[in-house]
Amino acid sequence: MAASASSTTPRWARIQYKALRRNKLVVTVPPHHSSQECRQCGHTHPDNRPSQAVFVCKRCDLITMPAWSFATEAWH
Ligand SMILES: [Zn+2]
Repeated sequence: MAASASSTTPRWARIQYKALRRNKLVVTVPPHHSSQECRQCGHTHPDNRPSQAVFVCKRCDLITMPAWSFATEAWH
């Protein structure tokens, strides 16, 4: 009884620790849902963002790379 308890406790603590670390990582990821609006025609849709790095407007076909434009804005 005592032997089984001592072997399961560290495992339980490790899972808790992993879950906490994962939550912390999720929080540090910047929100990308706010970047679904086309800056040219104002059309907002999740399909406008096939990936986090590319924006393709389904209405006016505007193609931008928000991650890249953010980087270039820092240069100006
Ligand atoms: Zn558009």
